[in-house]
Amino acid sequence: MCGIIGYIGNNDAKAFLLDGLEKMEYRGYDSSGISVMSGNKIHTFKKRGRLQILRESLKNQQDVSGFVGIGHTRWATHGGASDINAHPQNSQSGRISVVHNGIIENYISLKNFLLEKGFKFISDTDTEVVAQLIDFYYKDNFFEAVKTAVSKLEGSYALGILCSNEPDKIIAAKKDSPLIVGIGEDENYIASDVTALISKTRKIYRLEENDIAVVKKDKVTIYSNAGKKVLDRD
Ligand code: GLU
Repeated sequence: MCGIIGYIGNNDAKAFLLDGLEKMEYRGYDSSGISVMSGNKIHTFKKRGRLQILRESLKNQQDVSGFVGIGHTRWATHGGASDINAHPQNSQSGRISVVHNGIIENYISLKNFLLEKGFKFISDTDTEVVAQLIDFYYKDNFFEAVKTAVSKLEGSYALGILCSNEPDKIIAAKKDSPLIVGIGEDENYIASDVTALISKTRKIYRLEENDIAVVKKDKVTIYSNAGKKVLDRD
């Protein structure tokens, strides 16, 4: 279990994500990666090894600018440390991108279900199953797709998710793995721990078990077992 970071606002997502991942390096990891939304397209870059290797590989990439993104440092539990098994993990269509800390215990049965529906997998991770499952349930509502998909998951997860059809939001979900939301000025964040956000905001909300957060640049809505709550700057 390592690090998750997410950014939505008016500034360069890539710089924020790499900086946040660097602050969480102390947690240990074997690979790292980011997905950035450019227009309606998700661009994903990931590398085995130190964050510096990811940084180097991003230097010559033109299409990595955008104002929304998610990032990850991985400590492999399912599938070895490799570029392909690094996160973000995307659905086959490229519409859904997921970063995940934790372990999906029923991933084999979910994978078999999706294989029967014609989905093809390229990694050995339990996380790719989450991305494909959300894509499977996506009709025209990102939140509903995530809600249905996470209700099928057994195990532990902190998730940060992008959907190219709804580029105005990051969705975060949590069960048995830590995840926080940070409220900024015209920008908002998700992270595994406060060290990644402390230089940006002191307004931190810790997600509770089974919470799902819809994080937009000017509004954060938390859907919990108890109902719906909107977090504001004040
Ligand atoms: N189980 C996932 C994997 O092996 C996530 C590992 C993590 O928490 O970093 O890819």
